[in-house]
Amino acid sequence: GREWHLVARPHGWPKAEDFALREAAVTEPGEGRILVRNLHFSVDPYMRGRMNDVKSYVPPFQLDHPMEGGAIGEVIASNAEGFAVGDHVLHGLGWREYAELPAKHATKVDASLAPLSAYLGVLGMTGLTAYAGLFDVASFKEGDAVFVSGAAGAVGSQVGQMAKLKGASRVIGSAGSDEKVKLLVEEYGFDAAFNYKNGSVAQQLKEAAPDGIDVYFDNVGGDHLEAAISSLNVHGRATICGMIAQYNATEPTPGPRNLALVIGKRLRLQGMLVNDHTALQPQFVQDVAGWIASGELKYNETVVEGIENGYEAFAGLLRGENTGKMIVSLNQ
Ligand code: NDP
Repeated sequence: GREWHLVARPHGWPKAEDFALREAAVTEPGEGRILVRNLHFSVDPYMRGRMNDVKSYVPPFQLDHPMEGGAIGEVIASNAEGFAVGDHVLHGLGWREYAELPAKHATKVDASLAPLSAYLGVLGMTGLTAYAGLFDVASFKEGDAVFVSGAAGAVGSQVGQMAKLKGASRVIGSAGSDEKVKLLVEEYGFDAAFNYKNGSVAQQLKEAAPDGIDVYFDNVGGDHLEAAISSLNVHGRATICGMIAQYNATEPTPGPRNLALVIGKRLRLQGMLVNDHTALQPQFVQDVAGWIASGELKYNETVVEGIENGYEAFAGLLRGENTGKMIVSLNQ
């Protein structure tokens, strides 16, 4: 089977030469292990961080080894109790056609409840990030005005809709194209949205939220965070979830110039990692599956076909070519 290796550590924006699609032997599963044929794998912004050789909350990818990440596949051989050929599983060995792994590292998923790719997005890691980041980390409450950046992406699109569903007074989103802005308002029901490439974020946010905001869900950092700090009301809260605007930076990036506003407004800016919030998983699945079934919660996926396009899918994600979750599907 083929698998993607990191062969050089990117400096700044990743380049195709930093990656290689290589052939690897497919092995029979050892004791307590399963062999999985991957059907979909996830490409995510956090993977850019794993390409750097720095200590972080998740270890760096090793050069000349297969990269990892969320994947959904079908068990094709099992040497583990409770796992049968034909079962569908969620696991962490993406970026490859076949994965051989301990069964205890795989979670069975039900293909009859949702399209399998949904377990990588709306019903998976990015959906839980939105749910936990809004309800837990930002302590969202009914009547709050919410601003979310990266609003047409996998996390952001869910944050905005979840806030509306739970009684936000106003939901504002920013995204990088006029088509995405239209989608936010017309399909996802945001009250206002703007294209951050069309002008000053601070100015556009002020116009979209004349009475300020109570919650900011940050996926972008940089001038978005600075603008949000200016627009946050007294006792406002920000979930610092991601800062994609700086993931390819080669120099340290400046912090918000207005940080002192945090004092007088008694703001709370809190970082989050989704892995801390797995206790919410049952509640999250129950709520989100219900909202999807009733049509109240919408989601999009951008599906790139073929493992050979895996790197391009990842690069496209960083360039904003996705609407909703970016997925690589393996048409084998
Ligand atoms: P998305 O689906 O949102 O895809 C990334 C999007 O980022 C692109 O579509 C693009 O949209 C936008 N983007 C790229 N560059 C910039 C830029 N310079 N300025 C503004 N927007 C930009 O990805 P996810 O939903 O998976 O992730 C969203 C954020 O959440 C990321 O920052 C990610 O790291 C973070 N995250 C954090 C987790 C945690 O546990 N803390 C867990 C999961 C995600 P556009 O066209 O609008 O520019």
